[in-house]
Amino acid sequence: RKSMATPTVVLVPEWGAGHLMSLLDAGKRLLARAGSPLSLTVLVIRPPTEQLAAEVEGHVRREEASALDVRFVHLPAVEHPTDFVSFVEFVSRFAQMHAPHVRAAVAALPCPVAALVLDFFCTTLLDVSRDLAVPAYVYFTSNAAMLALMLRLPALHEEVTAEFEEMKGAVDVPGLPPVPPSSFPDPVKDKKSPNYTWFVYHGRRFAEADGIIVNTTAELEQSAVAAIADGRCTRGVHAPTVYPIGPVISFNPPPEQPHECVQWLDAQPPGSVVLLCFGSGGFFAAPRAHEIAHGLERSGHRFLWVLRGPPAPGARHPTDANLAELLPDGFLERTKDRGLVWPTWAPQREILAHAAVGGFVTHGGWNSVLESLWFGVPMAPWPLYAEQHLNALTLVAGMGVAVAMKVDRKQGNFVEAAELERAVKELMGGGEEGRKAREKAMEMKATCRNAVEEGGSSVVALQRLSEELYKGAVVNTDKRR
Ligand code: UDP
Repeated sequence: RKSMATPTVVLVPEWGAGHLMSLLDAGKRLLARAGSPLSLTVLVIRPPTEQLAAEVEGHVRREEASALDVRFVHLPAVEHPTDFVSFVEFVSRFAQMHAPHVRAAVAALPCPVAALVLDFFCTTLLDVSRDLAVPAYVYFTSNAAMLALMLRLPALHEEVTAEFEEMKGAVDVPGLPPVPPSSFPDPVKDKKSPNYTWFVYHGRRFAEADGIIVNTTAELEQSAVAAIADGRCTRGVHAPTVYPIGPVISFNPPPEQPHECVQWLDAQPPGSVVLLCFGSGGFFAAPRAHEIAHGLERSGHRFLWVLRGPPAPGARHPTDANLAELLPDGFLERTKDRGLVWPTWAPQREILAHAAVGGFVTHGGWNSVLESLWFGVPMAPWPLYAEQHLNALTLVAGMGVAVAMKVDRKQGNFVEAAELERAVKELMGGGEEGRKAREKAMEMKATCRNAVEEGGSSVVALQRLSEELYKGAVVNTDKRR
């Protein structure tokens, strides 16, 4: 273990597993690449439900058992807001309510503090860092395209008074292809929603941070990263320092027994299977599931379909799928030689790593995208929520690693069976668009892997960041003496 004099980087993650593990992983990568000694301190916010609290507790215990230079500080439990209407509003306000505890926890640390690294929904805590005269960084778990849009949002808010949907033509976000209103991320589509107000707020506050750390690779999103760094997204008022350090992907140690899905893949020819998986929040009720089933059946391709059913009343998360209720009669029997429907959480990274997988119909959550690119698997994006419509645009029009699929956003992101059939055939078969996406995905695989090798762009960004942090710690210690 390092001595008490080793400066620490204080991570403040949002409690959702995707955010927590991503920031923790980023922190560990930072430590591994730091030229001077640094340690990590993670401030653990007690999540608002018992189930989430147990999950976080599990992660923390596993980490405590394995990581040497990570100190976990559990913040006291705080009553959560009850009068909220939207999710990002809830998360942002709940984080804000922890400010006094964050302040106390940081002030009580026995070592110099290099900086706070805040989850991007926790920008209210920039006030704490300012109060303590400690540098602060924002960790952005999504991509540079979404970051560019959020940085542009405060000015856009002034320029466009109507709903974006009502605009004629595309929105100009520097570094991105023209963004049609139909590709606008969900949380900013409705200006009356507190979600929107919070997105504008966070976008504005990003500019106050000493730097923004992004889970992307500079070469993957060159133009968006450049537009952020040279201040075009912030209208030249400010040029944020941006650190693209990704892809940050949390790999689990290989299991003793291969998962059933992986065993099934072992029996399929290379590149022959299309994977369908829709993140932690994607689900389908029977009519939609029928549409997918028909599309897959008619495509004639092999498939591995991770399917979840609608949440229980009052709950947010999908349930395990009841296949008898969700699928058309006889579907499983008719496709048993070429398809597997998996009704619960599946090991997506291990599946994407398998040589049998040749394409991925994905909701386009950023982690799923990075995982797909890491293994060179081309995609067909089927956006469902969050920033996924923007990601779909980036994947198809920006990076060219995906084939387009017609998703009817006005009908709750509906895809017709015939359209799914067409997209799967294009992705998996000999079509020109599919061939190009496959080629491009392989190129991006090499790009992602090079970036995290010695001398690669993400490693250089981590080294640059660690130097800044170390400098900050020294200055900061002097000030506090
Ligand atoms: N995931 C998985 N199995 C599933 C569904 C999701 O392992 O059945 C993982 C996936 O590999 C990714 C994460 O959960 O790491 C989902 O993150 P993403 O950003 O793609 O989407 P979100 O869940 O945030 O919408």
